[in-house]
Amino acid sequence: MDFKKIVKKGKIRFDASGLTAEEEIHIRREVIGNQTKTSLKAIANPSFDIKTVSSKNCENLIGKVEIPLGVVGPLKINGDFAKGDFYIPLATTEGALVASTNRGCKAITESGGTSVFIEKLGITRAPVFITRNIKEARKLLEWINTHFKDICRIAGKTDEHLKLLSITPYIAGRNVFLRFSFDTGDAMGMNMATLACEIIAKDYIEKEFGAKCLSLSGNVCTDKKPAWINKIEGRGFSVTSDVVIPKATVKNVLKSTAGKVEEVYKRKIIIGSSVSGSMGFNAHHANIVAAIFLATGQDPAHVVEGSQGSTFVEKLTDGDLYFSVASPSLVVGSIGGGTQLATQKEALSILGVSGGGSPPGINSKKLAEIISSTILAGEVSLLSALASGDLVKAHEKLGRGKNV
Ligand code: NAP
Repeated sequence: MDFKKIVKKGKIRFDASGLTAEEEIHIRREVIGNQTKTSLKAIANPSFDIKTVSSKNCENLIGKVEIPLGVVGPLKINGDFAKGDFYIPLATTEGALVASTNRGCKAITESGGTSVFIEKLGITRAPVFITRNIKEARKLLEWINTHFKDICRIAGKTDEHLKLLSITPYIAGRNVFLRFSFDTGDAMGMNMATLACEIIAKDYIEKEFGAKCLSLSGNVCTDKKPAWINKIEGRGFSVTSDVVIPKATVKNVLKSTAGKVEEVYKRKIIIGSSVSGSMGFNAHHANIVAAIFLATGQDPAHVVEGSQGSTFVEKLTDGDLYFSVASPSLVVGSIGGGTQLATQKEALSILGVSGGGSPPGINSKKLAEIISSTILAGEVSLLSALASGDLVKAHEKLGRGKNV
């Protein structure tokens, strides 16, 4: 078997007969390494720096757990920040997820790629203040309005990459929740936002206005909990993407028809989600979000926000299939937190977004557009598999290793 020949073909799926599992992985790493100009040394031999990890990422360290890492692509993306063909690393233990998402990537790329853009951004923190009564609560809101510029200046001093965008107030009896929204450049920004809120709340609002800040997080943020506020107002990046898949691609790649997929969409996503009172009108956004988050060092608890997206499907008059996803709350960054770990850094490099961008913010925006596009690929493939009745077969074969 001529390894170099297979690598030269540049495909992540190839005829692996006669190859050992190790050889197959080696070839795939070479293909991805060459195409994305990324060294995958750490991913090939994962081992983190214990001193850094125990001081920055995890206390009472006893070791690590392993999660398999796969890759999908190429996925053609036509975004404002992500432009071109991308390979996307997915960390998962769910057999069939990578293969299915890869099929979605193929269908989308054959269709000319995703259109994607960021509608809104801002990481939020909402401290809760106690006032004497609603009269004083109203005064606090007026005071915040007239002092907004000062508050922006104070926030900016806490970190050169942080900018206060807005403060949205919510009054509940004597309680005032101030939902601060920040642009934090390439960082996901929760530490930066919390630090800025502490200084604004304790050193400025408490001292100058006199209302007590009872908790820096008042749950209107809303961090790591399912909440309508994130779905409606957004948190992190609010991103949307779409694609029109031609009839022939629906038939040849997705093994279905636009009518059948739309029917499953209506009965599952629209009716089923409303019967269950679901907060995410989608098939499995969380699957893609979790797999990319784990691969690239995002905070895994933010999968909660990422699961609250919506999917929109329509059969067009000519038999083509319209697909779109909206993710109102992708809480992601390319610097800080778990993104500093060697393997996660390499996974970000595969996407071309490791570390701080120039100008700051372009890497995290590109990452958000890539994630939205990959969510779209996941939705395209799963809803088509349900429409063609292939879901159980694929899971039996790829999840349980059975010959079906
Ligand atoms: P961080 O690692 O605390 O801060 C990122 C740092 O990167 C910034 O302080 C900034 O410092 C630096 N930086 C350099 N280049 C940058 C660029 N281009 N754009 C933005 N920053 C740049 O990260 P974080 O995102 O604020 O916080 C992430 C962590 O917060 C995760 O580990 C997450 O699990 C955790 N978290 C915290 C809370 C909380 O309430 N505290 C809640 C949820 C999650 P300079 O500007 O000085 O260069």
